[in-house]
Amino acid sequence: MKCRKCGAGAVIELPRHNAAFCSPDFQEFFRKQIAEAIRKHKMFTTEEPVLVAVSGGKDSLALWDVLIETGYQTAGLYLDLGIFDYSVESKAKCEAFAASRGQKLIVESVADAVGAPIPEVQKATRRPTCSACGLSKRYLMNRAAVDNGYPVIATGHNLDDEAAVLFGNVIHWQMDSLSRQSPALASTHPKLARRVKPLYRLSERETAAYAFLRGIDYIVDECPFAKGATSIAHKQILDRLEEASPGAKHNFLFGFLEKARGVFQGAEPTVLNECAVCGQVTTGEICAFCKLGDQVKRRRA
Ligand code: SF4
Ligand SMILES: [Zn+2]
Ligand SMILES: [Zn+2]
Repeated sequence: MKCRKCGAGAVIELPRHNAAFCSPDFQEFFRKQIAEAIRKHKMFTTEEPVLVAVSGGKDSLALWDVLIETGYQTAGLYLDLGIFDYSVESKAKCEAFAASRGQKLIVESVADAVGAPIPEVQKATRRPTCSACGLSKRYLMNRAAVDNGYPVIATGHNLDDEAAVLFGNVIHWQMDSLSRQSPALASTHPKLARRVKPLYRLSERETAAYAFLRGIDYIVDECPFAKGATSIAHKQILDRLEEASPGAKHNFLFGFLEKARGVFQGAEPTVLNECAVCGQVTTGEICAFCKLGDQVKRRRA
């Protein structure tokens, strides 16, 4: 197997691109895919600070690595969910990565913000763990960006993640989610940061290869609550499709973004208000995060 660019021995084969690359040329390919995502969706410029949400996993740390190398002004944001050893280890990976590159890492704790770590929030509210966690993550990410002066948040969602979310949204015909599924979400309120996904053109296998070739030390274990999640079942179905027909995931996601997404967009943008309790953006009077915190306090009282 030879590198498509230079003819040296290849370290990775990419069937969907009908190509194989040596280590330096694969890294260049990887960085170019991110540069193309940023350019195509006008995600951010080198003039503005970018908050990179890092979980300690390969995707978000690979993304942060590329943005630092490319010369963007970045800081990391780690959300401490309080999920047993998983949180302890993933936080340590993020701290070590930030220290080794001389970057700032902002840490926000769910327990501090909501009154209990995620496993306790689940017990107190009987809400599915990932639903309480997802709500807390979205809220804390935006609040950290707004409070610290970052107009944009970059997350490590890759092609496999995005294709699996799209698959789930299509199966249930979630019209609202379909209209919002995009590599770049604009700000529609002064207290709402833009959200971008610069890895959406790269597969999970590609980010794993990049992290390995760059010697990034990341947490391999998944969150213990990820087991049995429907998103994992959807990923497995798409993996089987990809094996039978390389490029299937890419075609599914990119076809949606280029040809179908507009069909799902409503005429009226959602009106955002400021939460009467915390002042963060919400569609109602009191935001869902404040309601969650209130529920936790009452049930634990
Ligand atoms: S899998 Fe873990 S980190 Fe992900 S949303 Fe669920 S609880 Fe949160
Ligand atoms: Zn090469
Ligand atoms: Zn609130």
